[in-house]
Amino acid sequence: MPFHTAPQSRRRFLAQGAAAVAGLTVLRSGWGAEPGANPHLVALLSDTHIPGSPEVTARDTNMTANLRQVVREVTSLKIKPSAVFINGDCAYLKGLPTDYANLAQCIAPLDDAGLPLHVTMGNHDDRGPLFAALQAAKPERPLLESKHVTILETPHANWFLLDSLTQVDVVTGEIGAEQRSWLAKALAARPDKPTLVMAHHTPQFEAPPEGKAWGGIKDTAEFMELLASHKQVKAFLFGHSHNWSITRRGDLQLINLPPVAYVFEAGKPNGWVLAEVRENGLTLELRTIDPAHKQNGERIELVWS
Ligand SMILES: [Zn+2]
Repeated sequence: MPFHTAPQSRRRFLAQGAAAVAGLTVLRSGWGAEPGANPHLVALLSDTHIPGSPEVTARDTNMTANLRQVVREVTSLKIKPSAVFINGDCAYLKGLPTDYANLAQCIAPLDDAGLPLHVTMGNHDDRGPLFAALQAAKPERPLLESKHVTILETPHANWFLLDSLTQVDVVTGEIGAEQRSWLAKALAARPDKPTLVMAHHTPQFEAPPEGKAWGGIKDTAEFMELLASHKQVKAFLFGHSHNWSITRRGDLQLINLPPVAYVFEAGKPNGWVLAEVRENGLTLELRTIDPAHKQNGERIELVWS
C-alpha cells in the first residue's frame, strides 16, 4: 500500500489520520483515492513567483493571472490527477507572508477539487511563512529538521521531493551533506521501484568563474554521483532556470520544468506539465500559458533504461 509522509490536505488529513510505519509518522496515502483520480497522473508546476498583490507584473507577465489560469486548467481536466506539485519559487522574491496569502487564494480551487498539493522550496521561498499560509503542505513530523522533504509512493514510481533552498533570496542552491546522507538511506530502503527525484535548483556541472556565485546546485557533483549510484533513480526534475528542456546524463533523464511565471528568454514556453507515470517510463505533456504557443500540447515519452 502506498504511503506518503506529508498531509495531503486538511480534509484528507482529518479523514485519514496518521499511521506509524518504519519509525516515521506517515499518513495513509489514499494516493489516487479521490473519486475519478488517476493514480499515475501528476500536474507539475514550477516557479510560480506569486507576489503579495495580484496586480504586480514582472517581465510583462502577471504571475497571479498565470497561476489562476493553470489552476483552472488543472481542475478542469477530464481525468483528475492524484496530486499537484509546485517545484519551488512559489513566492515572488523574498517569501513574504503576503506572497503566500495570495498563493493560498490562487490554489484554493485545488483543495475544493480534492487535489492534494506538494511543494518544494526555491531560493525565493521561506519555509516559515510558506507553512504558515499553506498549513496542509507542512509535514506532521518532518523527515529532516532543516529541510522540507517528501516521499510519495505511487503505483509505478516513488517520488522524492527535495529541498535545495540555502538562504532566502540568495540564488545558490545546495542539497547539503545531511540531506544527501538521508537520501542515500531512503533510496537504499526503496531499491526496486523506478524513482523520480525533484528539487528546485538546476544542476550545475561546472564551478562558476572566480568571484561569481553558484547559480545552481553547489554540490551537483556529489548529488549526481549519489543519484547515479542508485539505479532505480530514473529522472531528476528541476526548475529555477525557467527553461523547459529535457536532456540526459548517463542513464539519468534531466527534466527542466517550464515556469508558470515569466520566461527568461523570449519565445520559450511558460506553463505546466501533465505527467503520467507508466510502468517503464514517463509521459510528459506540456500545456503552455499561451494556447497558441507552438509547443503547446507537446508530448514527450521517456522510457527507463
Ligand atoms: Zn529559483
